[in-house]
Amino acid sequence: MIRQAKAILKNVFGYEDFRPLQQEIIQNVLNRKDTLVIMPTGGGKSLCYQIPAMMFEALTVVVSPLISLMKDQVEQLTALGVGAVALNSMMSSEAYGQNVSRILRNDVKLLYLAPETLMMPRTLAMLNSRRVDCIAIDEAHCISEWGHDFRPEYRQILEARKQFPQAVCIALTATATPRVQKDIQNCLNFEKSNAFIASFNRKNLFLQIVPKSDPVRQAMDFIHKFPSQPGIVYCLARRQVDDLAAALAKSGLSVKPYHAGLTDNERRQNQEDFIRDDAQIMVATVAFGMGINKPNIRFVLHYDLPQNIESYYQQIGRAGRDGLRAHCLLLFGYSDIHKIKYFINQKADQEKRVAALHLKTLVNLAETDQCRRISLLTYFGERYTQSRCDMCDNCTSGDPVLSDLTIPAQKFMSCIKRSGEIFGPDHLIDILKGARTQKILKFNHQELSTYGIGKDWSKQQWFFLNRQLIQKELLTEDIEHGSLKLTSKAWEVLRGKTLFLGKMLMETKEFIPPNTDEPSHDLILFDLLRQKRKELADSSHIPPYIIFPDKTLIEMATFFPQSEETLRYIHGMGAVKFEKYGLIFLDIIFTYCQERKISEQPKSIIHPTTAQERKHIRIGKAFNGGQLIADMMKENKVKLSTILNHLYQFVAEGNDLNPSDEFLSLSTLASEERSLVFETFNRLGIERLKPVFDALNEKVCYAELQLLRLYHISQKSR
Ligand code: ADP
Ligand code: ZN
Repeated sequence: MIRQAKAILKNVFGYEDFRPLQQEIIQNVLNRKDTLVIMPTGGGKSLCYQIPAMMFEALTVVVSPLISLMKDQVEQLTALGVGAVALNSMMSSEAYGQNVSRILRNDVKLLYLAPETLMMPRTLAMLNSRRVDCIAIDEAHCISEWGHDFRPEYRQILEARKQFPQAVCIALTATATPRVQKDIQNCLNFEKSNAFIASFNRKNLFLQIVPKSDPVRQAMDFIHKFPSQPGIVYCLARRQVDDLAAALAKSGLSVKPYHAGLTDNERRQNQEDFIRDDAQIMVATVAFGMGINKPNIRFVLHYDLPQNIESYYQQIGRAGRDGLRAHCLLLFGYSDIHKIKYFINQKADQEKRVAALHLKTLVNLAETDQCRRISLLTYFGERYTQSRCDMCDNCTSGDPVLSDLTIPAQKFMSCIKRSGEIFGPDHLIDILKGARTQKILKFNHQELSTYGIGKDWSKQQWFFLNRQLIQKELLTEDIEHGSLKLTSKAWEVLRGKTLFLGKMLMETKEFIPPNTDEPSHDLILFDLLRQKRKELADSSHIPPYIIFPDKTLIEMATFFPQSEETLRYIHGMGAVKFEKYGLIFLDIIFTYCQERKISEQPKSIIHPTTAQERKHIRIGKAFNGGQLIADMMKENKVKLSTILNHLYQFVAEGNDLNPSDEFLSLSTLASEERSLVFETFNRLGIERLKPVFDALNEKVCYAELQLLRLYHISQKSR
């Protein structure tokens, strides 16, 4: 059976392999076992019921909460040549009638319904005249009162199951909380063993969080890295959306706003423009995103702090559903924390505690210097076993550069002391900067000896220092009032007994890491293909991605297929799409290549993603083959730390490293210091360097630790 499923994957969808768990889930449904699927957005949930639906003899009913989602799915399936229709209350009676007669004629495999439509007598009567083989419940968390989107209508599905006892049921959601999962299983009476829970790690999302310093500039600089590529910018407030959208439009970008203050019509139109690639960027409040299936969103920019980690995860999840790289940037503003705290303080007691805790985890995610995926996935109860992902700013920025910030720390902390340890950072910074605010005059703080001694730093720099002092436990912060107090550690620094090493606020110009994935496809050809796709989409009134995903066009512009035979190997080239569009695109590629004398490239040879992934293996092997690290740095034009990272990844995957003294010769430490490092490795383990760095009082830099760790490991295989 699974062979047939694989054949459908290739012939209908044009995909090479199943994504993780898809095959197991499809097998389970085909065995007629009720199945719960928990997968992140973009994981590929739809295929899990669409492929069985194509294999079952009778009908599959798909329950879905939003008309826009149903419409999108029906369009996708229709483009693939699969019989699918939707029934909903917004349809004209004519269209409704046509769809019903197609169902009665056995002309469709999948029927999409809103839950309330499912239980209408006329729907039930129609369905009773046909067999139903499968009921798929999309967005199944809507059935749970514990979910973020409970819909009472979803409870009616329970009735429907009784009506079709022979139908197997598959429930799908991207909600990760165990409580909701259990609730879905209980409601639907599913066996616990038939749950498939995928990893929530979205490997293709690059995660970055930077202090918000000059947000409009930061947003512009960031967006300009993605010329004509779709993206979403999230803001907290409507006004912010309008202002930012206007500013971006003024700089020549193609933008649309989206928030609850617009009319239904405006919202629908703006969303449509975005989905159809008529507008590049959507500037929106949280109101935007549900029911959006656009797979090629290349960036999500959080202009303001999201409410909590869950909404952050949900919002960044809208990027890169197609599996290609996407960039998620959060501008972390310290004054945003105060805004959210203010909202939190208005809540009732119990709620207040939960919300404060949520905010704290978000702040921790923003301030951590470990891999961001560790904090993010730990929050969802998943253990991230690698020590680095190479797809977040902390993993790629190399070692944190620490400066001696003892003097500014002393200034800040003595200001706290002198004003009585009852004020928050805003007021303290006003004092340091010598502002003349009402509050300062009221408390006579212009008389303090710390008044005006911090004019050389910007407000943002002081905020940034304040956060580091809290994080390093020199200060404690009152959750409710935001007032700051000194700890015993602070006194050590104030008395000049220990230094305070910290990070300086980054210059805004260099905050975006260079994209190391240089496009390996022909950009001119890609553009020609994209124009054609848009033209075809507009004439059929569907979004361009329904015709072909970006990946299809990228492969065309990488491998230059010039015959029908080779075109069939391109990603997304199922039989029906080939029939409909194959020759049109082939013609463009052929003409382009003839003019420029470009020949076809075999698809198996160049594979950009695997080339990237395999780099550490190449480097590991070269090292074991005797190549010097210094030579590798020259050859690959990279820093020492990059080579060391690759080597560590090589060992972390279970490969041996040949012993080499080059590690020691690159080290600048004295031998007693080295022994101390090795001792600490033995005591604390080598998986994470941060604890070792801390245990050595931050005196040995990360580059040294990386070197000595590799030496340590290589000695073991001697
Ligand atoms: P979800 O519903 O989990 O968010 P979708 O079902 O919308 O995810 O799938 C996300 C994207 O991934 C879609 O564009 C889909 O066509 C694509 N996709 C799904 N499975 C595969 C696969 N096995 N190989 C390649 N692409 C896939
Ligand atoms: Zn990382």
